[in-house]
Amino acid sequence: MLKPQKLEKVLIANRGEIALRILRACKELGIKTVAVYSTADKKLMHLGLADETVCIGPAPANLSYLHIPAIIAAAEVTGATAIHPGYGFLAENADFAEQVEKSGFAFIGPKADTIRLMGDKVSAKHAMIAAGVPTVPGSDGPLPEDPETALRIGREVGYPVIIKAAGGGGGRGMRVVHREEDLIEAAKQTREEAGAWFSNPMVYLEKYLTNPRHVEVQVISDGQGNAIHLGDRDCSLQRRHQKVLEEAPAPGIDEKARQEVLARCVQACVDINYRGAGTFEFLYENGRFYFIEMNTRVQVEHPVSEMVTGIDIVKEMLSIAAGNKLSFTQADVNIHGHSLECRINAEDPATFMPSPGMVKHFHAPGGNGVRVDSHLYSGYKVPANYDSLIGKLITWGATRDEAMARMRNALDEIVVDGIKTNIPLHRDLVNDEGFCEGGVNIHYLEHKLANK
Ligand code: ADP
Repeated sequence: MLKPQKLEKVLIANRGEIALRILRACKELGIKTVAVYSTADKKLMHLGLADETVCIGPAPANLSYLHIPAIIAAAEVTGATAIHPGYGFLAENADFAEQVEKSGFAFIGPKADTIRLMGDKVSAKHAMIAAGVPTVPGSDGPLPEDPETALRIGREVGYPVIIKAAGGGGGRGMRVVHREEDLIEAAKQTREEAGAWFSNPMVYLEKYLTNPRHVEVQVISDGQGNAIHLGDRDCSLQRRHQKVLEEAPAPGIDEKARQEVLARCVQACVDINYRGAGTFEFLYENGRFYFIEMNTRVQVEHPVSEMVTGIDIVKEMLSIAAGNKLSFTQADVNIHGHSLECRINAEDPATFMPSPGMVKHFHAPGGNGVRVDSHLYSGYKVPANYDSLIGKLITWGATRDEAMARMRNALDEIVVDGIKTNIPLHRDLVNDEGFCEGGVNIHYLEHKLANK
């Protein structure tokens, strides 16, 4: 891979495992790093590994990790040349990307206009329809407030339907409607929530697919006309629309439909002149793909694609931000074997209540085909202020069964003492008959939990 000349010093505008992940990629490439942190995060592991560190504010994220002027100022005082936003926080904030570039730094991600286009799920769907990507049938645009028109659209699409916030994310701002008489009230409530949470009350309507799987496509595109895909991932094991365990490739997908959708995604990247790493998310039902949204950033579950392709997605993001073309072609991408990822959260495995606090003892598993992306260490105190993700356990195997056996071992070996985690849930899942067979739908985990 070419050395990203323009990226002498990268500021990592994030925390936790992804900040460490980005720091490691920078170090491999000989790029200097600036780590920023809040006062609640003085003991984060990557601070000790970064070339420079800057405190950007107090614990509440809106005063630190979401505070754009503090991050830009940190880049200025340290002489950083680029900013990597990671995921969450400001990663999909178009205004942030714009201000970063206006201030003379490279934004390690797409152009602000692309983030804006894809951040509004209504305009994103329009762009995908134009690019020939199959979408979920629904209101072609925002759902109008006028009850008669809204009811007509609902009737045309057919119940059940789902009302979704155009600016939504994180599994929030969605409401399933089974009967026509509930539509108007549900739309009103979702609009109110969307206005409060996402500062955008616009909602749209989609056919509610009853038993789909969540299958997504990883892409990388250099914004210079070259785009490739790194295959697909299955993220159907979800709780409250949040992913719990992911794998690549998605098992049991119709091969013709898969090749077709992969090619469409690559073409869509070329059409919108996409720059950086991105993910097209689909629902997959009865052998067909339906686009739901695009994420214009690195995703939590990116390692499973790295494991089956051997391509380092974060390093490639850095290279592209430095102005290089893609360092490989589609013909260089071979999907080899199978990979699984368990998201380890600091939470009660039964109630899912967050469980921050002191990690008295941490032991990372190891062995052939085992990868641990985590900022944990013995004596680290998980703060209560942020997302409960404390690490990701990733395995690779020549076959799905081998990846699964290695994950069982890794989950047996891992020790996180002092706080509650969802490790028991993962141990249960990798021994679950249905999941081991492969191809469960997005309701599988919730049903399993409800039957306990
Ligand atoms: P977010 O950006 O909040 O993650 P998404 O549009 O990606 O929202 O949807 C998140 C999850 O919600 C999906 O993975 C799926 O489980 C469910 N979902 C979304 N749209 C539909 C739909 N039309 N039919 C059935 N389930 C849906």
